[in-house]
Amino acid sequence: MRPPQKAPGQSPAAEKYIVISARGAKRLRSGHPWVYRSDIVSAEGVPPGVWAEVREVSGRSWGTALYSSSSQIAVRMLSAETLSDEQGQALLRQRIREAVELRRRVVRNADAYRVIFSEADFLPGLIVDRYNDVLSLQILTQAMDTDRVRQIIVDELVRHFSPAGVVERVEEHIRELEQLPPRLPGLLHGQRLETVFSINGVRFRFSGLEGQKTGAFLDQRENYAAAARYAWGQALDVFCYQGGFALHLLPVCDAVTGVDSSRAALEAAEQNAALNGREMEWIEANAFDLLKDYAGAGRKFDTIVLDPPAFAKTRRNVPAALRGYKELNLRALKMLRSKGLLVTCSCSYHVSEADFLQMLASAALDAGRQVRIIERRSQARDHPILLTMPESQYLKCVVAIVS
Ligand code: SAH
Repeated sequence: MRPPQKAPGQSPAAEKYIVISARGAKRLRSGHPWVYRSDIVSAEGVPPGVWAEVREVSGRSWGTALYSSSSQIAVRMLSAETLSDEQGQALLRQRIREAVELRRRVVRNADAYRVIFSEADFLPGLIVDRYNDVLSLQILTQAMDTDRVRQIIVDELVRHFSPAGVVERVEEHIRELEQLPPRLPGLLHGQRLETVFSINGVRFRFSGLEGQKTGAFLDQRENYAAAARYAWGQALDVFCYQGGFALHLLPVCDAVTGVDSSRAALEAAEQNAALNGREMEWIEANAFDLLKDYAGAGRKFDTIVLDPPAFAKTRRNVPAALRGYKELNLRALKMLRSKGLLVTCSCSYHVSEADFLQMLASAALDAGRQVRIIERRSQARDHPILLTMPESQYLKCVVAIVS
């Protein structure tokens, strides 16, 4: 007799299995946790969002994966073992505990950091950030979205952190891609939606409230400290958002100007500066226009930070993205005084570090400046890089002296 079919998304283990092609298996053999839909031979009867066994056409079992019925990334491996329901739940709890323990080992001088970084913590589609006593959670895959899995995640987080609030951040377009029902963002546990957190001794406000969301780009945490180590004089923080770099520069520079196109972000930056007993000058502008005007007017700075949003969302956008990066970097290089500091970043995964350095070299040649790199950095260590999954490394941050 066949075992009774479990309701979709109710069970961390399914009786049905997914069959992948030899090409899909090759990818898994390389250590990458994903199999694309084009490499699925059959997933007949596998309900959306289950934890299912994966087999190669040859019959070889690859273990247990999270299955998505709609994403191009159909399979995200979870374990090399074929797991029962209970084993799946135990593994989920264990992975959460291990992620928490890793942060205890690697995070210093901060009560805000990424607690769980999806595949890089072997928990595909789950992102959890800690902001002091409030946790912010994001669910990005069908198989992490079931009531049962959510409950385990929240229970474990509460057990480890005793937070005053656990808020869910909802990415509507991702829920649509995963064909998940719409959800309202909000509290999953506790009462608190707002708090103050500190990184490297600098204080920031966090708010999980809709419409006035604040937070931080936690992946830049260690780069803020690196920038502050070398910054001096008149500083310009371009794409400053809520002041991540700018606030770290204020204590060590004579003056700091933040530039961003978002007024709400700049207002939050100003409040954050006040929270630290400082004042920051800011300009609401399109960075491209402003840098052009400044360069034309002969404005000079001693320190410039460039941290634009991801210009290359897909591989096809890379050439246009590199042109954008070059324009920004070229103008910044022209505006830096001798011995100036340039901190220049890219968070586009599709732009490799090699591409980025080549772009910078070309900008330096055009600007007639000598650029010496003193640090080549990436994301903070609470965003570990899974060696066999290139997508888990995306941030580039070059710290350079410009002569
Ligand atoms: N450096 C920030 C993060 C920057 S995120 C930190 O460490 O906290 C990118 C920022 O660029 C966002 O705040 C966004 O509002 C801003 N932005 C996007 N396009 C812009 C443009 N053309 N000109 C100025 N700011 C822009």
